[in-house]
Amino acid sequence: MTIATTNPATGQVLKTYGAMSDEQIDDAIERTDLAYRQLLGTTVAQRGGWLTATADLLEAERDDIARLMTTEMGKTLAASKAEVTKCAAACRFYARRAAEFLADVPADAEAVSATRAFVRYQPIGPVLAVMPWNFPLWQVMRFAAPALMAGNTGLLKHASNVPQTALLLEDLFRRAGFPEGAFTTLLVDSDAVDRILSDARVRAATLTGSEIAGRSIAQIAGRELKKTVLELGGSDPFVVMPSADVELAAEVATTARCQNNGQSCIAAKRFIVHADVYETFAEAFARRMAALRVGDPMDEATDVGPLASERGRDEIDAQVRDAVDKGATVLCGGHKPGGEGWFYPPTVVADLNPQMRMWAEEVFGPVAGLYRVSSYAEAVELANGTSFGLGANAWTRDPQEQERFATDLEAGAVFINGMTTSYPELPFGGVKNSGYGRELSAQGMHEFCNVKTVWVGEGMAGAGPGAHAE
Ligand code: NAP
Repeated sequence: MTIATTNPATGQVLKTYGAMSDEQIDDAIERTDLAYRQLLGTTVAQRGGWLTATADLLEAERDDIARLMTTEMGKTLAASKAEVTKCAAACRFYARRAAEFLADVPADAEAVSATRAFVRYQPIGPVLAVMPWNFPLWQVMRFAAPALMAGNTGLLKHASNVPQTALLLEDLFRRAGFPEGAFTTLLVDSDAVDRILSDARVRAATLTGSEIAGRSIAQIAGRELKKTVLELGGSDPFVVMPSADVELAAEVATTARCQNNGQSCIAAKRFIVHADVYETFAEAFARRMAALRVGDPMDEATDVGPLASERGRDEIDAQVRDAVDKGATVLCGGHKPGGEGWFYPPTVVADLNPQMRMWAEEVFGPVAGLYRVSSYAEAVELANGTSFGLGANAWTRDPQEQERFATDLEAGAVFINGMTTSYPELPFGGVKNSGYGRELSAQGMHEFCNVKTVWVGEGMAGAGPGAHAE
């Protein structure tokens, strides 16, 4: 893929970059390995100072960074600004909480015949981060902030369409005070990932992206025996039950489907509505979707900007055409507009069946699938009837149903009477083909730590009642 900034609102190529040579990649790995050794000699407080400085820079330069992101991938300027603010908050969160997350955890010394036993969290080394374009700053920061705080270093292979944001990130961490090489951006094609991850100095990888890319990285990491965290696609259900506040559900559904121009892994994509409230919800949802303002993402009044790529726009249009050809009903939108830029109108498609692509595939744009069900059991069966398991939403005011949804929905996160989102305080990740491992919270920080057991005794190792040979 060409490494270039192309404005999705116009289709104009603004800047192109050549891919780094093998020699440049090797140099970068060497520098990140040296930086890792340097970080081993730093304290949590020192690293926290650098991360706080990163937050300060993000806040001070928010508007410029936001314009760059909007230019590179088309999200609305308001969304870009919110993303920068969220990244700064995540940096502050980890700077504040890392000492607690990395503190030794005492174990029951007597049970293991020790005088002292505990768990110590230590860094594991350089981590390769392969990242997508949809939240070009946030996807990277939610890996980098905890990983750097834990004392690891980061090598970023960002999506080929956001090279300037990728370079900005390296510059940001350097200016905040992190040692040279602690966070390095590699301008490379995805073909170079095998070579990078095979290098003995690179200890682990994290990928946020498609299932195909996830399988590819997992294969390389399996061969090389390296730890991976995979954050992959999703086809999140949004279930509306009879006791729900239907008008509010329709309002939130509109945001949940269309924020980030519909290109979010945790966007609600399948709207599963109980027959008792189906007509009311369908009318309110289609009305709100149709009312969204599509246009120039730099305009503060715009709700939905262009898709990030022409390929992405063609893909969702093909999914809609396939559904229509097989008998689906379009309640609003549904047509690729002419003119420059890769725009697509907010669309609601009803009367879907399993023969249609939209039934099983992720739809990565502002297109919602609407499904009618007649019971709780049918709603859960349909919600879980996907290979994905990232987030899930359920709308119900019935406390018993809330409990059941929390348990029954197969997902890494269940949000009741709200839309799925991410917070530094809560773990984030998926099950099934949405990947494995967690980001954010203490769990996210521990993914790239050596969870080291420390046993201190008086020469009696292995004497405890639970001890055995391994
Ligand atoms: P993608 O094609 O998988 O790209 C993501 C990253 O992986 C890019 O840096 C890409 O590089 C690289 N890549 C692609 N193929 C690769 C391969 N075979 N080996 C190694 N690296 C490879 O994903 P996308 O289509 O741009 O992004 C949308 C997908 O990401 C959706 O499925 C979405 O749900 C998912 N996503 C998941 C999360 C989550 O947290 N679970 C968050 C955001 C997005 P190039 O750009 O150079 O191809």
